[in-house]
Amino acid sequence: MHIPSAIYPGSFDPITYGHIDIVRRACKLFPRLLIAVVANPSKQPLFSLSERVEITQEALAEVGIRGVEVTSYDGLLIQCAKAHGIGAIVRGLRANSDFDYEFQLALTNRDLDSEIETVLFMTAGRYSFLSSSIVKEIKRYGGDVSSFVPKSVEAALERKLAG
Ligand code: ADP
Repeated sequence: MHIPSAIYPGSFDPITYGHIDIVRRACKLFPRLLIAVVANPSKQPLFSLSERVEITQEALAEVGIRGVEVTSYDGLLIQCAKAHGIGAIVRGLRANSDFDYEFQLALTNRDLDSEIETVLFMTAGRYSFLSSSIVKEIKRYGGDVSSFVPKSVEAALERKLAG
């Protein structure tokens, strides 16, 4: 049986333990996992694209995840997936509120390329309310985010918010 390589796309602005949990679990299913940080200017990210790639790489190293590549793209996910020889898209589902968007995204991507399947991972209960936005909000007001992101991510947030 052929098990495809997978791509985990997202804004990762910044990466959190919720994302990292999905990465760990996806690594058990797929022989190769590529994290693809999307430019996503419409979301007005706090970190630049290259900063998000670097922060993601640092965070993975800090938590001891090896062998997961990190890349970036600006454009159609399907084109990025094709360029890397990918057969599956990994995404995460938290509350009900994620469902409509993920459903639409999965169907659209299947319409664009029926060979690439989307695989959705249910969040871990403890991370079900965790998002990059919440982490940024807490950090902006001086709160403790150590249970939500690795130390290197917290340090990057401190540098960015201080500047
Ligand atoms: P996007 O802007 O593409 O939604 P995000 O970085 O916010 O990028 O999320 C990327 C993917 O990771 C999405 O599928 C999202 O639902 C999932 N995700 C984010 N946080 C969590 C979490 N705490 N638990 C499970 N999945 C998550």
